[in-house]
Amino acid sequence: MIKDDCLFCKIASGSIPSATVYEDSNFRVFMDVNPASKGHCLIVPREHFDNVYDMDAETAGRLFSLATGIARAQRKALKCDGLNIVQNNGAVAGQTVNHFHLHLIPRYEGDGMNLLWNPHKAEPEELEEVRKMIRKSI
Ligand code: 5GP
Ligand code: ZN
Repeated sequence: MIKDDCLFCKIASGSIPSATVYEDSNFRVFMDVNPASKGHCLIVPREHFDNVYDMDAETAGRLFSLATGIARAQRKALKCDGLNIVQNNGAVAGQTVNHFHLHLIPRYEGDGMNLLWNPHKAEPEELEEVRKMIRKSI
């Protein structure tokens, strides 16, 4: 399904131009217009999914398989030292475009970028309680 008012549906279909590095019948990979680093790419499915909660397993599998290939191409082309794969779901998590997209953000020694969260020390009981809650819901 494609959503009429969705920016990334339009980019994925090609009706809005993008700096495309790869496309096939399921996906388009293009340069992020406001890159976090040199080579920052986005992978989008042509089909509209709001976010990870909506995506079917087959598309998700194909998408991650494609991501491994794009990651290796970025490394070969850009000689980057590492890579962050980021995928935001919901406004609270930083999602600003409501069409699933995977960020591939090359990293360079000394780039000074900070994607870190603020970890806290959890008690074993807390981990155990939450572990059970998630496990029961699978
Ligand atoms: P989010 O914050 O939703 O995870 O990421 C949205 C990303 O899409 C941002 O990194 C932003 O720079 C990128 N973006 C938003 N609009 C456009 C656009 O029109 N073209 C391209 N190439 N990237 C866009
Ligand atoms: Zn869309």
